[in-house]
Amino acid sequence: MRIGQGFDVHRLRKAPGPLRLGGLQLEVGLALVGHSDGDVLLHAVCDAILGAAGLGDLGTHFPEDQASWQDADSRQLLKRVLEMAGKAGFRLHNVDSTIVAGRPRLAEHRQDIADSLARCCGLDAPLANVKLKSNEGFDATGRGEAIAAYAVALLLDDSD
Ligand SMILES: [Zn+2]
Repeated sequence: MRIGQGFDVHRLRKAPGPLRLGGLQLEVGLALVGHSDGDVLLHAVCDAILGAAGLGDLGTHFPEDQASWQDADSRQLLKRVLEMAGKAGFRLHNVDSTIVAGRPRLAEHRQDIADSLARCCGLDAPLANVKLKSNEGFDATGRGEAIAAYAVALLLDDSD
């Protein structure tokens, strides 16, 4: 077994959207700015998987200055990361994550985000968990200027 952790943060702005979290598209009048489609949760999960597999980080494999990843669908990035981990002999067992967002209110979407994350990871629903924190008005996430995500992933060594 191998464990890895990941973190990511993206700036939040008023935009027609959609806001992408865990591969789910939320129409809430807000969007995340940044590399690819800004799916902060999938990026944290990608880094957790890469970390567990000893394969570096997302930025190394999908450089921000490379135009081809500019508006990339993060579900495709995750797919590539899972393939890389698979080639290295690892299979994803489960993912746990925390989204830190002062806005929008995500509580009613929590299960949908978790279900979407499970689909993206090829896992059964209970094996992809999503937790929510509002950060109580503190720092950029608490003030609703950004959304952050933390993730841990457990990989099973398929080679033995
Ligand atoms: Zn990111």
